[in-house]
Amino acid sequence: MKALVIHGPRRASVEDVPDPVPGPGEVVVAVKAVGICGTDFHIFEGDSLGGYPIIPGHEFAGVVDAVGPEVTSLRPGDRVAVDPSLFCGHCEFCLTDRGNHCENWGGIGTTVPGGLAERVKVPAANAFPIPDSMTFEEAAFIEPVACVVHGMNRLQLRPADRVLVFGAGAMGQQLVQALVHAGASELVVVDVDPGKLELARRFGATKTVMAGRVEEELGTGANSRGFDVVVDATGVPAVIERAFRFLGPTGKFLQFGVAPKHATVSLSPFELYHKDWMLIGSMAVNHTYLPALRWIREGRIQVKPLLSKTLSLEELPEFLAKPKSPALLKVQVRF
Ligand SMILES: [Zn+2]
Ligand SMILES: [Zn+2]
Repeated sequence: MKALVIHGPRRASVEDVPDPVPGPGEVVVAVKAVGICGTDFHIFEGDSLGGYPIIPGHEFAGVVDAVGPEVTSLRPGDRVAVDPSLFCGHCEFCLTDRGNHCENWGGIGTTVPGGLAERVKVPAANAFPIPDSMTFEEAAFIEPVACVVHGMNRLQLRPADRVLVFGAGAMGQQLVQALVHAGASELVVVDVDPGKLELARRFGATKTVMAGRVEEELGTGANSRGFDVVVDATGVPAVIERAFRFLGPTGKFLQFGVAPKHATVSLSPFELYHKDWMLIGSMAVNHTYLPALRWIREGRIQVKPLLSKTLSLEELPEFLAKPKSPALLKVQVRF
């Protein structure tokens, strides 16, 4: 079968690899749609969690092609979306509801072969049947929405909190919708791209601000009460450092965007103490796949408007290597 193989930093090609064979408790999924995500770019650029070579792709949906021994929950032909998390289930963190910090953590498409291939082998327990009403393109968004659900679980928004979000990319747009459903009152979104801001307004942002005009539009320090919640969905250190200026007393800061591994930002510990701040991280998904599926299935989180571009597997190596337009939201590979 054909697969995208990343052999090392900036070395990717589409090649023929052996077909996966399902073991006990496993199924093979014929992939139909795969979302390309920041993590795939990190792997391509040399920041791999699982070493090389690797077949990436962790946001995918498809049709069950073959089932291994002991699989009773799925049959060939079932339409499924796959939770890429591989939690061992028996370490201290798995046993205390922190599977995303599993001591034996693995991920389909990050540490074992992923969905950027015609077929992929996954544990049957990770494959969630999807309704006929859900397209494969929509189902490939369940994984990123599951990250948003985890972020919302971490954040614990209170009714009518005033929220400021930096970054209206694909993740930012999903966060905006989730924040609306979770009860935000004011919801201000900042980005560099006017088209993305317009989409954020469609999804429920009450105000949008171009990145260069944040201080003028929102005020800082003594002129401003600050927000109850500030979310970074950019992962850009300079943006994160600046974002703290807009956090009000007892404010919660959610770091949702993935910053470069060795980046640092400066933060005043006096302010952290004096303003009763709470700093919150949000790492991937933690048993949040099913709630995400339900959110998409019921149309609460709209993902179709986030799909900017569809590629074939053959077009992907070139796409990974070239610079991206700031207007781009989600890109998917279709089979
Ligand atoms: Zn992802
Ligand atoms: Zn574990």
